[in-house]
Amino acid sequence: MKSAMQFSLVVSAAAALSVSAWAQGTDYSKIEILTDKIAPNLYMLSGSAGVDPGHQDAAGGRIGVLAGPDGIFMVDAQYAQLTDKVVAAIRRISPGPIRFLVNTHIHGDHTAGNANFAKMGVTIFAREELREGLARPPAPLANGNPAPARDPAALPVVTYGMGGPVKLHVNGEIVDLIPVRAAHTGGDTMIKFENADAIMIGDFYRNYGYPFIDTNNGGSLKGALEALDATMKLAGPNTKLIPGHGTLINRADIVPYRDMIVAVQGKVQQMIAQGKTLQEVLAAKVTASYDAKVPGGLLPAGAGTSADRFVTMVYSQLKSGK
Ligand SMILES: [Zn+2]
Repeated sequence: MKSAMQFSLVVSAAAALSVSAWAQGTDYSKIEILTDKIAPNLYMLSGSAGVDPGHQDAAGGRIGVLAGPDGIFMVDAQYAQLTDKVVAAIRRISPGPIRFLVNTHIHGDHTAGNANFAKMGVTIFAREELREGLARPPAPLANGNPAPARDPAALPVVTYGMGGPVKLHVNGEIVDLIPVRAAHTGGDTMIKFENADAIMIGDFYRNYGYPFIDTNNGGSLKGALEALDATMKLAGPNTKLIPGHGTLINRADIVPYRDMIVAVQGKVQQMIAQGKTLQEVLAAKVTASYDAKVPGGLLPAGAGTSADRFVTMVYSQLKSGK
């Protein structure tokens, strides 16, 4: 785990780089894959800082690797451009075959490498909603041109709905794929490693930037709050909670995060009751008292800052009665 001091140094270096990185896009050749050991046979792989404009603290989404005699089970697939580096990092852990991959959610920083891994013989697991989303034609590019068609190899082979967890018994570990209803997206999964006492929770929690609920992909504010409650029930006090981005946390860290969401929700609800428009709510800077505690909260994210994106989501969810 990074200490708070290390984290703030990374954040300020990343903030200084953000303007040039946004101007240039992502230079994948500059991204290194860093490995952290979580338990005797469980590892986390993260991209290096200061290269990916959307994720200044660590490029792309975090990958989990469970290694052992049964072969590799992995969580998430990172950007397609990084597959060779991810495989090289896995090879430094274990020479065994990569057999299983589960996606925490549909976003490209977690699924774009899927097709590359599938072509190596890896079986991909995910929620049905995630597979449906990947099977749809991608949205047009920003310049209006059609996006390149997705490789059908990217589609998960084993899918599941909102029932009990799918359990994999591999490498002496029991891995639970726990479906989460409409939180960060409409097809989220948490991955619990029972013996390692660790849960990869995906992106409905984040400590770099404000919460991102992707309502265009089926996410919802209510579902995100429910997912946070479910995480607090699933985790013990010392369970390692591993978000898709940012630093590792424990159950106690969920509480102030959830409180912040509920407080912002309350302020926005009050302004809606007063008939305020979205522009008026954004101008009121309702997150201001949290900005100092949310690294990356004022960095660009979509049309405005990550704070603007969060407040816009809260406003539209409340306006539509969700
Ligand atoms: Zn992500």
